[in-house]
Amino acid sequence: MFIMSEDSQRTQGRDAQSSNIMAGKAVAEAVRTTLGPRGMDKMLVDSGGEVVITNDGATILNEMDIEHPAAQMIVEVSESQEEEVGDGTTTAAVIAGNLLGEAEDLIEQDVHATTIVEGYHEASEIALEAIAEQVNEADVDDEILKQVGESSMTGKGTGGLTAESLAETVVEAIRHVETDDGVARDNVTVHTQIGASSNATELVPGIVLDEEPAHDSMPREVEDASIAVLDVELGVRTGDIDAEYAIDSIDQLNTAIDAEESEVRGYAEDVAESGADVVITTDDVDDRVSSYLASEGILVFENVGNSDARDIVSATGARRVGALEDLEEADFGAADRIRAENFGDDDLAFIEGGAAAETVTVFVRGGTEHVVDELERAIGDALDVVATALASGEVVPGAGATEIAIADKIREEAAGIEGRKQLAVTAFADAIDIVPRTLAANTGQDPIDALVDLRAAHESEGRAGLITTGEDVTIDDPFEHGVVDPADVKREAIESATEAATMIVRIDDVIAAE
Ligand code: ADP
Ligand code: MG
Repeated sequence: MFIMSEDSQRTQGRDAQSSNIMAGKAVAEAVRTTLGPRGMDKMLVDSGGEVVITNDGATILNEMDIEHPAAQMIVEVSESQEEEVGDGTTTAAVIAGNLLGEAEDLIEQDVHATTIVEGYHEASEIALEAIAEQVNEADVDDEILKQVGESSMTGKGTGGLTAESLAETVVEAIRHVETDDGVARDNVTVHTQIGASSNATELVPGIVLDEEPAHDSMPREVEDASIAVLDVELGVRTGDIDAEYAIDSIDQLNTAIDAEESEVRGYAEDVAESGADVVITTDDVDDRVSSYLASEGILVFENVGNSDARDIVSATGARRVGALEDLEEADFGAADRIRAENFGDDDLAFIEGGAAAETVTVFVRGGTEHVVDELERAIGDALDVVATALASGEVVPGAGATEIAIADKIREEAAGIEGRKQLAVTAFADAIDIVPRTLAANTGQDPIDALVDLRAAHESEGRAGLITTGEDVTIDDPFEHGVVDPADVKREAIESATEAATMIVRIDDVIAAE
């Protein structure tokens, strides 16, 4: 009896397990070489010829257009890592892949999937304890935050700009949006603009929008601006144009034109009299209104997108007004300075200071599209990790040191675990070794030798990572070299990798509709 469509494909038992495991491992393998400060970049070309050059694990997996369902689950590990903590996407995918690899060996030794799953869960609990033990006792100050930001950007294409100077900008941005209720990460935006060297990257105390003044003779800069934000068309309503006028004499035509002129002038005067010196509307502004307002020294932006209008409102404290007659001073937003600037083919509006200062923008410059795109991703990651570290106040040593400590603690505790589950717990520790091994391999070192040396140093010194500084690779305490990661990044990587790997291992029947 057939209960499924004849076209559906079914794989069962070991075959299902091993094909899933292989797919998951392949995904992790794909990003392995990008891990760490010496990680290489990937160039991804989509079917439309669009090119992305990146070192970012989540971006790579996202662009790869992966179809295999088990492989897709590893992609999701990396995506949830990006969403939750903003960094560690490669680490999480690589750990997940290695957990699958170790599981495959266990299955071959006839360890049952449920035993593997239990062992992995138990090991991940020990890993979380180990992470807690690694947390830096010192307060997370600006110096440490800068190190966190810098560590997350080392090895990324930062367009020749040092990770150090970028990290300074990142910390300044995050400090700016720190409130009593925590870090308002969403109040930091990144705006990219090509055409200058990445050195010109700066922090704007406000927002940057792709908008240009409605009229050439308007002021390009207004200080202490009172800003009206309108959803109003300033001109003869487009809807009115359809109305038919039966005009059969010049007089009537002139009357009609006069009526229109006075309507238009009326709008302009209403706006001018309101006292606003900057007007932003989501609708059209008639040229005659623009030119009148320009002569009154008022700066107008027309056809502003809805989301830009929302940003302006939240940055300036303005209230959006739907009808001119309702406009009053209480609706105005405030900014220390609004300026329009031209960058080649692009016009940008900068709204700075005043109430606007609640939001800040990292204004990223770079010579080409690829440079600014990768800078934007690197800065986005750095903003996330600095915000994460500031919010939790917990950082751990990077450069593989935390992973060495995790594996060590798991092996130690595995001794007290009975039966075959012990094999699974130990296998988890072996899987975690992938991080220091890969960091070593990506710096051209022998991974086995490096691992042995790291373990020995961990044994004698406590904290031991494989530190890359310029051309040098040394084993030392990462805290001494400012190589630090937020504890939450490590926790999330362990948790999401364990979850995906155990889910995949448990599957022994794959039914796919064609
Ligand atoms: P992920 O996508 O997982 O964040 P990265 O390519 O950003 O991958 O690499 C992160 C790893 O690189 C972390 O383990 C971090 O501690 C390590 N790292 C960062 N800076 C250094 C450094 N100077 N030396 C050695 N390791 C470093
Ligand atoms: Mg990173």
